[in-house]
Amino acid sequence: HKPGENPQSEARLKAQHLDWTKGKVYTRFPPEPNGYLHIGHVKAIMIDFGYAKFHGGRCYLRFDDTNPEAEEGKFFQSILETVRWLGFEPWKITYSSDNFDRLYELAVELIRRGKAYVCTCDVEKVKEDRGGGKGNPVACEHRNRPVEESLHEFDRMKNGEYPEKKAVLRMKMDLDSGNPYMWDTIAYRVKLAPHHRTADKWKIYPTYDFTHCLCDSFENISHSLCTVEFIPARESYEWLCDALSVYKPRQYEFARLNLQGTFLSKRKIARLVSRGLVKDWDDPRLYTIVALRRRGVPPGALLAFVSELGVTTVQSTTELQKFESCLRAYLEESAPRLMMVLNPIKVVIDNVPDDYRVPVEVPLHPKIPAMGTVTTSFTKELYIDADDFREVDSPDYFRLAPGKTVGLFKAPHPVTYLSHSTENGRITQIRVKLENDGKAKKAKAYIQWVSGPDAVRVEEVRYFHPLFKSDPPPSDFESDVDPKSLEIFTDALIEPAFYSLAKKAILNARKESEERLKKAKEESAVPSISSASAPVEGSEA
Ligand code: ATP
Ligand code: MG
Ligand code: MG
Repeated sequence: HKPGENPQSEARLKAQHLDWTKGKVYTRFPPEPNGYLHIGHVKAIMIDFGYAKFHGGRCYLRFDDTNPEAEEGKFFQSILETVRWLGFEPWKITYSSDNFDRLYELAVELIRRGKAYVCTCDVEKVKEDRGGGKGNPVACEHRNRPVEESLHEFDRMKNGEYPEKKAVLRMKMDLDSGNPYMWDTIAYRVKLAPHHRTADKWKIYPTYDFTHCLCDSFENISHSLCTVEFIPARESYEWLCDALSVYKPRQYEFARLNLQGTFLSKRKIARLVSRGLVKDWDDPRLYTIVALRRRGVPPGALLAFVSELGVTTVQSTTELQKFESCLRAYLEESAPRLMMVLNPIKVVIDNVPDDYRVPVEVPLHPKIPAMGTVTTSFTKELYIDADDFREVDSPDYFRLAPGKTVGLFKAPHPVTYLSHSTENGRITQIRVKLENDGKAKKAKAYIQWVSGPDAVRVEEVRYFHPLFKSDPPPSDFESDVDPKSLEIFTDALIEPAFYSLAKKAILNARKESEERLKKAKEESAVPSISSASAPVEGSEA
């Protein structure tokens, strides 16, 4: 046992905890409602909810809403919706702010125990005294002030008699420790902003370091699961529970999910959104869940990706390729295939009559016949993609070029280049010959095409490239945003079947989403006490 720890009281608290939990696992997912969740949170959600589920336990969704400035109603709603969209249902939905009274009482108790003091040094001086977080912390003149004085000053803080940044409550920890979290960490600060849920009742708000462990304790969390940055904070977490003689949950850490070429931080994403560098939180260049969802990423694909990464404490950055190949592997099983040309060039088949029209039945999936087929017409006039044609041939190029024969997906015969015309340097038309005379040449490559008379023009195709020019993005990431990261095509053509299929896909995704939600609700042991019932939409595939 550590000095100051009371083994008897520890054992009693542990027994009370077990009496309450009956030995069940209790976890929580504790997001700060200051933004939309990102792909990193999927990992945390899977670990928090998944660990409890695996052990027949329960997981809370706890909104860690102690910072009045950054929080907005829409974020609460969206976070709950995201948890449900991923297929999890909170056992209970709680708010750190529901504990403001209790936390305040414990802060007063901490002062009474001589383990906290009000410090009215300037914020800059507090930072300096804490050695700028680097070393050699020094005590300020308030550290040893009498308890009564701190109680009085804390009351004044509470009554709004101090402006922001002029007074804080600090825990009296251990300035000789090698751990900066023990250097009299701030427990309460003055904030004069109104709170989303408690309006202007409070002028002082507890910090993360004061709130988190105590809320875990109140909720009888058995496994407080968090990311490895919190390893050094564990000492302060335990110190505070011990200092107040309350049940002390055990904290366990796992590595954050980091993705190559981007960052996962609500605060930074918020900066991109507020400066108009992306369209909104659901801009598909972001890795927020709303953005991934908008891109058509199904929840199952996200769960599969995170599962594949596993859970360790080793910090690493996952390659984007890994995410994309995982996504592709998942969609491989469910996505119908259709043809589209982004930059169309007209192709005319020379050796067929004007009314030439051959129906071609194309399977929607090469390996899943049950998915059905669409019938497309192979006609005299077609469109192919500009990328699939070169005016100057080379031996390592297998698509259409002078002298080349190329296959058109599912078309009855390949075509061979005859000639092409240009206008102001732009290719306007390619003439080809259909190899339909029996001893047809064999094509080395197959390209996409759409029928000229049947093609449907797409008003706008948005093609997304990495948002940042550098990998990883620099600290002044705003200036690293690549203006070419969103490419827009306005001439693209698609097969007419696209519309009916897209509609079907959206309806299916919606159905799947509803079923998930229903299943999650049935599986959760006790009905949620949530008053908010979130609408669940399908993926906007
Ligand atoms: P952000 O920096 O994006 O605002 P955060 O770290 O402050 O996120 P919260 O939303 O406050 O996170 O926390 C919710 C939970 O999600 C925490 O337990 C946190 O550790 C976890 N989490 C956040 N980002 C990641 C990530 N990239 N990988 C895994 N878990 C994460
Ligand atoms: Mg946070
Ligand atoms: Mg963070």
